[in-house]
Amino acid sequence: MQGEPEVAVLRLGHRPGRDGRMTTHVGLTARALGADRVLLTASTQAKETVEDITDRFGGPFSAELVDSPKATIRDWPGAVVHLTMYGERVQDVESAIRAAHDDEPVLVVVGAEKVSFDVYEAADWNVGVTNQPHSEVAGLAVFLDRLFDGRELDREWTDADQRVVPMETGKKVVSPDEE
Ligand code: SAM
Repeated sequence: MQGEPEVAVLRLGHRPGRDGRMTTHVGLTARALGADRVLLTASTQAKETVEDITDRFGGPFSAELVDSPKATIRDWPGAVVHLTMYGERVQDVESAIRAAHDDEPVLVVVGAEKVSFDVYEAADWNVGVTNQPHSEVAGLAVFLDRLFDGRELDREWTDADQRVVPMETGKKVVSPDEE
């Protein structure tokens, strides 16, 4: 988020034809819940969808394709957090990760299929959002909310073509020139 060290989300192991929707949802969740960038290993469709949503609903946020996720992890100039059901409990490590994020960028790594062991070794933290199997989208959402301590819910959006007006009932969408 603006004024804070960067948070990027790296999506590993996209299987074409199988993981497309989940990869898109990782990108949309990263954007909506306070990350600055999503790094995708191989999904131009997911990149386009995330960029389209950013054009319409605002940013700043970017989606990028990376050739070598291992190099991205190795060369990351800050803390690397790998989300995995086998990791330490998020409630036990969140304050240490927040302290790291006060000073340095954070890379949050999520998988799709089996994640190779070098990712576990390269990570500064392997973090479980519960130690039960679920989804990269759910794990990412809970983790980002813990990392930002809820600040992401008040995030301001810039350069949006449209904005949803929260309503008790019904749907209202306005463009910036109507405000
Ligand atoms: N069985 C796979 C493995 O051994 O890595 C996990 C596949 S899971 C469907 C896909 C991704 O969801 C994982 O790589 C991880 O990033 C995330 N995930 C699933 N459960 C999680 C949990 N309890 N905590 C954190 N992340 C989780």
